[in-house]
Amino acid sequence: MADKFDLIVIGAGPGGYVTAIRAAQLGLKTACVEKWQDSKGGVAHGGTCLNVGCIPSKALLEASHKFVEARDDFDDLGIATGDVKMDVGKMMARKDKIVKNLTGGISGLFKANGVTAINGTGKVIGEKQVEVTDFDGKTSTHEADNIVVAAGSVPVEIPPTPLTEGLIVDSTGALEFDETPGRLGVIGAGVIGLELGSVWNRLGSEVTVLEAMDDFLPMVDGAIAKDTQKLLKKQGLDIRLGAKVTGSEVKGQEVVVKYADADGEKEITFDKLIVCVGRKPYTQGVIADGVNVDLDERGFVTVDDQCRTSVPGVYAIGDCVRGPMLAHKASEEGMMVADIIAGQKAEVNYDAIPSVIYTFPEVAWVGMTEQDAKEQGIEVSTGAFPFAANGRAMANNATEGSAKVIADAETDRILGLHIVGQHAGEMIAQGVIAMEFGSSAEDLALTCYAHPTMSESIHEAALAVDGHAIHMANRKKRK
Ligand code: FAD
Ligand code: AMP
Repeated sequence: MADKFDLIVIGAGPGGYVTAIRAAQLGLKTACVEKWQDSKGGVAHGGTCLNVGCIPSKALLEASHKFVEARDDFDDLGIATGDVKMDVGKMMARKDKIVKNLTGGISGLFKANGVTAINGTGKVIGEKQVEVTDFDGKTSTHEADNIVVAAGSVPVEIPPTPLTEGLIVDSTGALEFDETPGRLGVIGAGVIGLELGSVWNRLGSEVTVLEAMDDFLPMVDGAIAKDTQKLLKKQGLDIRLGAKVTGSEVKGQEVVVKYADADGEKEITFDKLIVCVGRKPYTQGVIADGVNVDLDERGFVTVDDQCRTSVPGVYAIGDCVRGPMLAHKASEEGMMVADIIAGQKAEVNYDAIPSVIYTFPEVAWVGMTEQDAKEQGIEVSTGAFPFAANGRAMANNATEGSAKVIADAETDRILGLHIVGQHAGEMIAQGVIAMEFGSSAEDLALTCYAHPTMSESIHEAALAVDGHAIHMANRKKRK
């Protein structure tokens, strides 16, 4: 038997590594087990987020957006560029360097905070025991008073489109293309499908997105989702709703995809196909038979509001439990669990977790949509403000989109903020903070915003809740 720990965390994604660092800071003797190997066989901390998720996708989104700006927008600003070309290899090398820096950074943070990094595959084999199989296949057993399972998630595969090297790929494959595909198919108009579709559309692919559902972004406020769909269409994304993919055939270097929509069966041919139909919890093999940690029918570890599993002392967090599959949600749960194990009171406010789609413009939201509120029988007052009427947006060449505040009609408490616009992902924090502090729309309306900023649109949307927007003809009568 090796060392005994206060806490062993399985998985070093944004859930697991944050738990481990926080726990060590609070004085707990902590280890974190990670099995992800880099191309040289060493450990790569950071999970999906740093290796094949949030960070590499944003590196490609930023590069491809700058390319479009240089190609299409600079002339209008008076900047002559000549022929703008994209070097895909260089873009990928930059992305890989960022990933390497960040994953290496986590290893450094473990050292600095006194977290013991254990390389290998962890398995809970008892209430207080974790077995680790290292990269050479050797096993060891480690004891801990508490265990946190933070094993994350993996892409869902669907039978109609089995992954086929270089032709039918998942999100990980779509971050590695060495050249811009000609005709690119994307299955799934979710967050990941739209982001990856945008990257390659910007670089010149003819992108078709096939989405089974009839609604576009049903989790976003209807008006904002409608705006977003229009904007992405204008950029050239061919988004086909109500189009369920039923089969595919690889013919030489092409993929023929069959799908069914309201008009019947159809076929479309692509040079590459990205399958982005969601992610599923990665819990296989993490819990040994005989350990009574309950999983639900979809494989998520069953947990209570404080991430306790059915076995005392064993917690689970992040993508492998219920709730949105987001890095910051995983980290928040990790902070909470570390605090609880250290004897402190802690909770996560699941009503105030922001979501962002990093397209251009970005889409960001927190809290309820107007539809959600209606379904729950809550009467709401809303205020919206278009970026077209915002001076900074004009100066920034970013007048597309709008911000919408949703407030309780009776109490004025902010229930949601939904934005489509440049920097929406940064601006959404205002709604999150307002909701965390139980603010009213009037609180935001009475707050001083710097001028000129995109955020002034949120100020104006809050003012518009009771018909007092300054730079817009209000639809409502002033009270
Ligand atoms: P993961 O990050 O999946 O980490 C789990 C870790 O556990 C992995 O490193 C895995 O190797 C390890 N592990 C699993 N089993 C074992 C075992 N038995 N032993 C040892 N180690 C094990 N989210 C956002 O919030 N913002 C974004 O912009 C965003 N963009 C994304 C883009 C893409 C293309 C993808 C695929 C995802 C994106 N996500 C984004 C989602 C985000 O990556 C996940 O929500 C987040 O990584 C979940 O964190 P986690 O710690 O729960 O799991
Ligand atoms: P998300 O879960 O946000 O990543 O989104 C995945 C999307 O893929 C959802 O909107 C699903 O409706 C969509 N989807 C799943 N299966 C299919 C399919 N066979 N054809 C088209 N779209 C699909």
